[in-house]
Amino acid sequence: MGVLGSGQLGRMFALAARRMGYRVHTFSPDTDTPTGQVADVEVCAEYDDLDAVRKFAGGVRVVTFEFENVPAATAAAAAERALVRPSGHVLHTTQHRLREKTFLSSNGFPTTGFRAVRSVEDVRKAVAELGLPAVIKTASFGYDGKGQSTVKTPAEAEAMVKAAPGVEWIYEAFVDFEREVSVVAARGIDGAIADWGVIENSHRNHILDVSISPADVPASVAKRASEIARGILEKLDVIGVLCVEFFLTRSGELLVNELAPRPHNSGHLTIDGHVTSQFEQQLRSVCGLPMGSTRQLRPVAMANLLGDLWTDGEPNWSAALEHPDLKLHLYGKSDARPGRKMGHLTATADTAVEAARVVTQARDRLIQR
Ligand code: AMP
Repeated sequence: MGVLGSGQLGRMFALAARRMGYRVHTFSPDTDTPTGQVADVEVCAEYDDLDAVRKFAGGVRVVTFEFENVPAATAAAAAERALVRPSGHVLHTTQHRLREKTFLSSNGFPTTGFRAVRSVEDVRKAVAELGLPAVIKTASFGYDGKGQSTVKTPAEAEAMVKAAPGVEWIYEAFVDFEREVSVVAARGIDGAIADWGVIENSHRNHILDVSISPADVPASVAKRASEIARGILEKLDVIGVLCVEFFLTRSGELLVNELAPRPHNSGHLTIDGHVTSQFEQQLRSVCGLPMGSTRQLRPVAMANLLGDLWTDGEPNWSAALEHPDLKLHLYGKSDARPGRKMGHLTATADTAVEAARVVTQARDRLIQR
């Protein structure tokens, strides 16, 4: 197995793959990476070094990726020597917010209203047509709320575009959502699709904070979310894992916010809460194996551990682990910067709310002295 990218998603994929006897090679511009630490081979080269990419792909049977900003030329070079799954067209659509939202709306999947904006004139038109407030995002390379702002007045909206000439933006009508949910799903080479149901997510500073499964939503909403996610995997012809992030509005409407063509932070709780994790399922789907069961073993919650927890020194791991149902996942990152995802905690319990209480209390105990 080859993995383009070397972060925590690649690490958890590599752990699942090695458990099943696969050898894993990882490719990224860094060394001693979260994935490299648990892989058989860590290749260090730039993504635009296409000869290095070809050589890497020549050493494996299947190449997958753990982040969607892999350049198209890199995926194409890898495809000369190995199977690349999901394929380059999935990356092409999902690494650009305008292409992604256009794909969704033109295929009848629900989204908030949006416009492409490049100039002040475009912004004025978008304000007139979609109104304010709005969220303006860069079309490419945004994640965890980076490269985006909520604007409340025409002047704010125009200033944002004026400050960065030549940038391609997407202007989105603001969604006054009740909550945010996601569906992670996998599709195999035979077209079989498996999903883990609706996961409920809360964010802090635009970064995922806590996820719980099952989400506290009506059965009709859960069914619809799963149908939309399955429809998207089919229409995009995904082989692999894809996460659909939704807004659930106060009137019970689901709007797709974003797609991620890989395992997703909100799906980390499947490692401890379900028969088959999103990482094992990624392996199964890209290797052409049958899908594993996504049956939930117990209600589960996950809390992210960000670098901020290291501000006053090493977190107090023993205090957090006092709860016997708690599971600690650390990604092997040595540099704990604020906002950086360093690991996560999961816990199972009789209810998802109780599991969320266990993980958040354990996280609070990490910084107790
Ligand atoms: P994104 O990078 O698109 O996932 O956005 C990050 C977060 O910003 C989302 O999880 C929402 O909390 C918020 N957000 C993004 N787009 C909108 C929108 N159109 N309306 C309201 N909130 C949004």
